[in-house]
Amino acid sequence: MSKIQIYDTTLRDGSQAEGISFTINDKVKIARKLDEAGVHYIEGGWPGSNPKDKEFFALMQKTPLKHAKLAAFSSTRKKGITAAEDLNYKDLIAAKTPVVCIFGKTWDMHVTDVLKTTLEDNLEIIRDSVAFLKSKKKEVVYDAEHFFDGYKSNPEYALKTLKSAADAGADILVLCDTNGGSLPEEVAGVITEVREVIATPLGIHTHNDMDLAVANSLAAVESGCIQVQGTFNGFGERCGNADLSTIIAVLSSKMDYKTIPDAKLKDLKDIAYYISEVANLPIADNHPFVGHSAFAHKAGVHIDAILKNSKAYEHIDPSTFGNHRRFITSELAGKMPFVMKAEQMDVKMDKASPEAKAMLKALQEKELQGYQFEGADASFELFVKKFLKKYKPFFKLEGFRVHTEKSAEGRAWAEATLHIEVKGSRQFSSADSVGPVEALDRALRNSLLQFYPTLKDMHLTDYKVRVLDTKDGTAAKVRVLIESQDEHDTWTTVGVHENIIEASWEALVDSVEYKLLKDAKK
Ligand SMILES: [Zn+2]
Repeated sequence: MSKIQIYDTTLRDGSQAEGISFTINDKVKIARKLDEAGVHYIEGGWPGSNPKDKEFFALMQKTPLKHAKLAAFSSTRKKGITAAEDLNYKDLIAAKTPVVCIFGKTWDMHVTDVLKTTLEDNLEIIRDSVAFLKSKKKEVVYDAEHFFDGYKSNPEYALKTLKSAADAGADILVLCDTNGGSLPEEVAGVITEVREVIATPLGIHTHNDMDLAVANSLAAVESGCIQVQGTFNGFGERCGNADLSTIIAVLSSKMDYKTIPDAKLKDLKDIAYYISEVANLPIADNHPFVGHSAFAHKAGVHIDAILKNSKAYEHIDPSTFGNHRRFITSELAGKMPFVMKAEQMDVKMDKASPEAKAMLKALQEKELQGYQFEGADASFELFVKKFLKKYKPFFKLEGFRVHTEKSAEGRAWAEATLHIEVKGSRQFSSADSVGPVEALDRALRNSLLQFYPTLKDMHLTDYKVRVLDTKDGTAAKVRVLIESQDEHDTWTTVGVHENIIEASWEALVDSVEYKLLKDAKK
């Protein structure tokens, strides 16, 4: 079984994703998590390009990583000066990392039109940059930017740039599909040709502009690359980078390569969620292996078949990477989801049992009122628990009041006051915010946190309102869906009422109770 080096660049390339803005503390947290996960390299940032990254590296010197090697990133040196004179390289060395990664130009068009120098000079820039860093006893990762585009344009020159880096002592040459426009066959073909003339080990760095970053990385590994660079969840500029959560899963479960330690593979989903949580960027529900819906079954015939043999509609055991199977309730699925949920709660029930029939009837009544549990699995679980009398509330509402105000100058805000009873004690709190639901959420947490401290780890990630059709001429009902997330999971809850605040409250309470139930199971 050959070993593939996992080189994570979530903190550098990943931070270029729209919507991501890591604080130094975020970066430290992610680095520690990746270190724990057993990735081999962690690229922390570009010390020469911004003060935040410089400070990150200073911080990391105080408490070094335990397993992974930390890498600092930069480009080849500026033209017209030596690497020793380049201030960027002073910062790069000052980062005191065992590994440095520099990118250089491969594509002749980039050399003449972007770098605005001669092809010969670029070769010297690469040589001088790598040689200088080697003289400082660094492990040098050389990223050949736009390698595949450059090779297509001028293969001879592209190979010369690699040779310059290799001759100067680069430890690994990483071929980059920077624009993400290459096909797996092209990647494999080019790498095979490169390997005929270059003896230095090769790595791969791909972007996802054609949704092929994972496929291209796998093709590269099959063609002999020993290192894969990418980001967790595929976070990155434009369409993102090669997604390490998928790549690690595929390499280790389908292709017989060793990536992170075997014992850590079952943490893959947790790692992906943790990073999403710190990055404040959600993972797509349909994300392979680790997504919320990756093993969610909805069609009745599928559910039926899965229960007979899980291989019927699952290519792999969901628990391999820490995920789990879910059955989605809907008219399509019939009674099966109840039977499954009941089983998870240690209640034996079969499709034909009177309980299952009664529960289905109760569910259909709820659906008539406008509830939809299909997109609200957490509320569904609570519904089943309540029906089976397996549910004990964590607190009792005595009453709340929410009001919103708008001033003549245009400022709008809301305030919520709340009375609840928790574990026999009466609690009062109030909170304000821009909107009424957030004010209510804050007031509720204020009261609950001292009793249930894990609530600080969850937050609401999405809030959707839909006005439901009414045929009976009464006031229109609204359905509120709230999505919440913590470091391990995401879950959705639902509330329905003519009053939007009441519908929101219902979904909010389900969300909090689901979190508390989940934590109580641990
Ligand atoms: Zn990149």
